[in-house]
Amino acid sequence: KANRKFHPQDTIVDIGGVKIGGGHFAIMAGPCSVETPEQVIECAHAVKAAGATILRGGAFKPRTSPYSFQGMGPSGLELLEAAKKETGLPIVSEVMDPSQLQYFDNVDMLQIGARNMQNFTLLKEVGKLRKPVLLKRGLSATYEEWLMAAEYIMSEGNEQIVLCERGIRTFETKTRNTLDVTAIPMMHELSHLPIIMDPSHAAGMSRMVRPLSLASTGGGADGLMIEVHNDPAKALCDGPQALRPDQFSDLTKDIFAMREIV
Ligand code: PEP
Ligand code: MN
Repeated sequence: KANRKFHPQDTIVDIGGVKIGGGHFAIMAGPCSVETPEQVIECAHAVKAAGATILRGGAFKPRTSPYSFQGMGPSGLELLEAAKKETGLPIVSEVMDPSQLQYFDNVDMLQIGARNMQNFTLLKEVGKLRKPVLLKRGLSATYEEWLMAAEYIMSEGNEQIVLCERGIRTFETKTRNTLDVTAIPMMHELSHLPIIMDPSHAAGMSRMVRPLSLASTGGGADGLMIEVHNDPAKALCDGPQALRPDQFSDLTKDIFAMREIV
């Protein structure tokens, strides 16, 4: 079902009124994790003012260490919903387990994280819903494995999927991951599903977000997911890769300018 051969037309995914794919480009932005009411609202206003049309924020966090901040859980989603009410931005947040889906009724897009890309039970459960899914590429997943993960969701009837390249594991140790820009033309060739790029998790460093965002935009991505925090130094998760609101708005100007010529 994900194969371009049997479905030549680009899929356009509608996330609470915001379209991605088939020529529609959108930026999702916001903090790695929801932390406080003020933090979410401030970030939401800032990313909206800079041209982002979808608000991101994690409430259930897949942290490498069990001793790191694990996210606020259901109350984090409530803060995200409050920011949605105030700004009108649709929201996307990660679901790690089917048991958490009960809290996501008012979340516009379900994010499947890189670490869960092959959690087939979770994929089948979100496949039963009729809600857009952001499917991140696994840390070491091939294109074929990634598309088969999409196929698990689609086989249950949910075909509203946006793929997200977020960097893969390579021999390089200077960066957190290596952003695979080739995934854009390759996924457009192999599949009709839209593909967006996440330069924040790819590099793990805020100063790399700009060049990677521009490379992705120039490379024909259908959108971007960028982490923005009102006070990166105090962020409870992924602070080193987060952009400040002013850095983000400088960047979006250039992204939108580049979109004009892609
Ligand atoms: C995230 O988006 O905050 C996240 C945890 O991403 P990934 O699954 O790509 O690591
Ligand atoms: Mn993060």
